Amino acid sequence: MLDLSKYTKELAKLFSSAENTLIICHINPDGDAVGSQLALYHYLKSKGKHVEMISPNNLEEFLKWMNGSELINVYIKNRNRCKDLISQADLILMLDFSQPDRLGEAEKYVSASTARKVVIDHHLEPRDFADLVISDSSKCSTSELIYELIAEIDRDYIPSQPFAEAIYVGIITDTGNFEHGNYTGKTLRIIAGLLDEGIEKSRILNLIYNNFSADRMRLLGFSLKERMVILPEYQTAYIYLKKNDLATYNYAKGDTEGFVNMPLSVSGIIFTALFVEKEGFVKLSFRSKGDFPSNEFATEFFSGGGHLNASGGEYTGTLENALSYFLKVLKENFSRFHRN
Ligand code: 5GP
Ligand code: MN
Repeated sequence: MLDLSKYTKELAKLFSSAENTLIICHINPDGDAVGSQLALYHYLKSKGKHVEMISPNNLEEFLKWMNGSELINVYIKNRNRCKDLISQADLILMLDFSQPDRLGEAEKYVSASTARKVVIDHHLEPRDFADLVISDSSKCSTSELIYELIAEIDRDYIPSQPFAEAIYVGIITDTGNFEHGNYTGKTLRIIAGLLDEGIEKSRILNLIYNNFSADRMRLLGFSLKERMVILPEYQTAYIYLKKNDLATYNYAKGDTEGFVNMPLSVSGIIFTALFVEKEGFVKLSFRSKGDFPSNEFATEFFSGGGHLNASGGEYTGTLENALSYFLKVLKENFSRFHRN
């Protein structure tokens, strides 16, 4: 665990001296990326700071209700404005990622910027691409880390409703609503405080989890029935989706979110993969249980990364080749990754 007090003084100084603060999350932002970004935005705005926000690409529908999300500039939709925001910023805060390529197209402009740069993140093996890297992989979410940093920097801060909701969304989405084992007693004490602040948890849970289209539900059913393969000898299961499958069910961005977790509830399965066919490449998600390092598998074979039990990567080529390559490397390497 990280001793946050080592960083808070410097961070507080950067916050207060900045004239133009820019907060950037990672490409394909999830609930934690957007939650931590909005929480920090609401906090800094409450201190009278000038703050702007960028996401490398579009937000998914299930996050668009969040207070302040409409103020996030989407890089691929408004490149010129985003380039201006990057060049005007004197402080750039990068949230919820450990590798600069997660900035997408914005990477080259951010790296060229002379602003002070800070990374706040909970992924493993942070790369050194900022003046200050606050990385704590013992935290369930970047949102939890943001909450603790602000609590330390500004003990008198009384969370506003939008701040509390944003932290709540970040924590529930990165823990699968407390289904994954990556949260602690401290996480629950933060949640307890947010509930005491009066956040409307039923409304938020409905907006996040009960907001799917009928097509998405049917795509899930189809995936499990027709596209899930179980490999008992490798304690592995995978799901693959062709472009045609997605079209049949009127795929919308985010519809396959969570599918990769499903086969982990099959007895004996410790490693799962989801293959989604894209134009010229295949996007992969991995999940695992226990010590099986899905992120090392993703890094070694699919130029990706992430957390021990939740990671992702890509394969350049056809879906067919991606699947046969996966089977090959799984068979050759399963025992090396399965350490006990
Ligand atoms: P998901 O499967 O939900 O898209 O991603 C799970 C986690 O894997 C993300 O939080 C992120 O840390 C990591 N991840 C997913 N895709 C990639 C990728 O292409 N590259 C890297 N480095 N990490 C990824
Ligand atoms: Mn996260």
